[in-house]
Amino acid sequence: PDWEKRVSKSARRNSASGLTVLVTGAAGFVGTHVSAALKRRGDGVLGLDNFNLYYDPNLKRARQNLLDRAGVFVVEGDINDSALLQKLFDVVPFTHVMHLAAQAGVRYAMQNPGSYVHSNIAGFVNLLEVCRSANPQPAVVWASSSSVYGLNSKVPFAEKDRTDRPASLYAATKKAGEEIAHTYNHIYGLSITGLRFFTVYGPWGRPDMAYFFFTKDILKGKTITIFEAPDHGTVARDFTYVDDVVKGCLAALDTAKKSTGSGGKKKGPAQLRILNLGNTSPVPVSKLVSILEKLLNVKAKKKLVPMPRNGDVKFTHANISIAHKVLGYRPTTDLETGLKKFVRWYLDFYSGSKKSAW
Ligand code: NAD
Repeated sequence: PDWEKRVSKSARRNSASGLTVLVTGAAGFVGTHVSAALKRRGDGVLGLDNFNLYYDPNLKRARQNLLDRAGVFVVEGDINDSALLQKLFDVVPFTHVMHLAAQAGVRYAMQNPGSYVHSNIAGFVNLLEVCRSANPQPAVVWASSSSVYGLNSKVPFAEKDRTDRPASLYAATKKAGEEIAHTYNHIYGLSITGLRFFTVYGPWGRPDMAYFFFTKDILKGKTITIFEAPDHGTVARDFTYVDDVVKGCLAALDTAKKSTGSGGKKKGPAQLRILNLGNTSPVPVSKLVSILEKLLNVKAKKKLVPMPRNGDVKFTHANISIAHKVLGYRPTTDLETGLKKFVRWYLDFYSGSKKSAW
C-alpha cells in the first residue's frame, strides 16, 4: 500500500490538462533531465529504471535522489518485467510513455551483445505489448539514435536517408526498434514517435562518453586517446546539449496524437513519427578537447590513434528541419556554453558538494 501510494502521488498531475507520463530509464542521464522538467511544469511523472551496472551505480543513485527531492518516484525494475509494468498501468492511467531505458554505448556491444537484445529489442517489445493492451492506450515517445545512419556517407543526415548499414550492434537494435515501432503503430494503432538523438551531453552525463572521461583523465593528468579517421580526416560529432534535447522530448510528448486502439485492436490511423534531434553543427573531437583544456585550465596529454573500424562512424550531422517544423525544435546551446555547465557540475559533484547544479 505504501508503494502504491508513492506511485500514485508521483504520477499525480497538477492540472486536468497536464500529462501523466511513465518515464523509463529515469535514473539515466536523459531520463533524469526529462523527468525533472516534466514534474517542474506540473505533469504527473513516474520513473522506472533497473539501475544496471553499465556505469557507476552511485551516479544513478544520486540522480534518483535528486528526482526524489523533486517529487518523482523512480521504481526499481526492468522493462522486461510484464507483471511489474501491468501493475504500474493498473495503478496509473498513463497518457504518455517516454521510453528512454536502453543499453547504450557502441563499443560495449562487442563484449555484451545480449544486453542490447535484452533491453533494446525484447524490453521494447514487452513495453509496447503492455501499452497496446492498456486502456486508454498511451502515446509513446522513445529514443532512437543518430547511429541508425551508420555508414551513410551523405551529410547532413535527413530522416529519409538510408539506414540499412548500421556500424554496431547498438545501432542495429535501435534500427530494429524503429521497425518494431512501425509494426505496433500499424497493427495496434499506437501513436509512436521515435527521436534520433545526436551525442547528447551535459550535467549528470554518462561516464562512458568521451567528453566525460576526457574531463576525468585530463584532470588526473592521464593521457587521453583521440581517434583519427583512417584517411586522417576529421572525426566529428553533432554534440547536442541536454536541455535542448529535453525541449525536443517535451514538444514530442505535447504534440503526440492519441493512440487509436483499444483492447489491443486498432480503430483508426495512428500517428507515427521519426525525427532527428541534433544540433546541426558538428564539432571535431580535437576541438572538443581544446575547449575542455581551456575550461579546465589544464593542457591535455594526447595520443592520436586510428579510429577502430568496428562500431564508430566518422562523422554525425543532423538535418533538423522536420523537427523544427513539427515540434518547433530549435537548439540554442553551443558546445562551449554547454561544456561550461557540464564542467561546473562535474567539479561540484566529484568534490562531494551537496548543491550540484543542474
Ligand atoms: P543512460 O544509460 O544514462 O540511461 C538509460 C537508463 O536505462 C539507465 O539508467 C539504465 O539503468 C536504464 N535501463 C537500461 N536497460 C533497462 C531495462 N531493461 N529496464 C529498465 N531500465 C533499464 O543513457 P542516456 O544517455 O540517458 O540515453 C537515454 C536514451 O537515449 C537511450 O535509449 C539511448 O540509447 C538513447 N540515446 C542516447 C544518446 C546520448 O548521446 N546520450 C544518443 C542517442 C541515443
